[in-house]
Amino acid sequence: MKKNIIFLAAPAAGKGTQSSMLEEKYSLVHISTGDLLRDEVKSGSELGRKIEEMQKQGILVNDSIVTPILEKKLIECKNNNGFILDGYPRNLEQAKILDEILDKQNMKIDCVIYLDIDYDLAMKRACGRLGCPKCGRIYNEYFDEAKPKVKNKCDFCNVELSHRGDDNEKSFENRFNTFIENTRPLIDYYKEKGILHSINSNLKSDEVHKQILNILN
Ligand code: AMP
Repeated sequence: MKKNIIFLAAPAAGKGTQSSMLEEKYSLVHISTGDLLRDEVKSGSELGRKIEEMQKQGILVNDSIVTPILEKKLIECKNNNGFILDGYPRNLEQAKILDEILDKQNMKIDCVIYLDIDYDLAMKRACGRLGCPKCGRIYNEYFDEAKPKVKNKCDFCNVELSHRGDDNEKSFENRFNTFIENTRPLIDYYKEKGILHSINSNLKSDEVHKQILNILN
């Protein structure tokens, strides 16, 4: 199976979790532009400091920064089984940039999955989200099934868990509004191409995963 997939979703709708589940099952490359940008922040570069500021406020990082990072990653995974794009494109302009990059490489998107989630649930998922700085596993302090076994400690690494800098109410609100204004219109863009599938993402992650497998198979 060669599948190039896009996840289109509001913040905290489950893109990251679902991407990891598919990545393992089908050996796909998970490309999260948020993670790629956070890697640049961790490097401590001047560019990383600019990105950190924009991420903290929950505003989009400029295309002049994001496009080259994304293009490099897409070219790297050209000969893989396929990729999952998580967090890109965020608006029509980015969708067109993506089409151009893929055309140049003779690649294409096979399937776009829209994870539809209610505002209140997404806010709770974002504000309760805790990550392991060592292995990247994600937990949530508000949901029993997603809590770590020991409060604030990774089940696998025993390392202290932390909140992302942009997982607070104010930033979440900005990110959600940006999604409604700029990203949600992409549903029609991909519907017209005949590759859009919508999923109810208010369910538990394994139920959402099952719906995704039905689409892919
Ligand atoms: P995410 O991890 O997808 O929730 O993204 C976190 C933050 O990274 C966003 O709020 C933006 O500041 C930045 N970001 C991620 N993907 C993009 C993108 N495609 N374009 C611009 N900024 C992005």
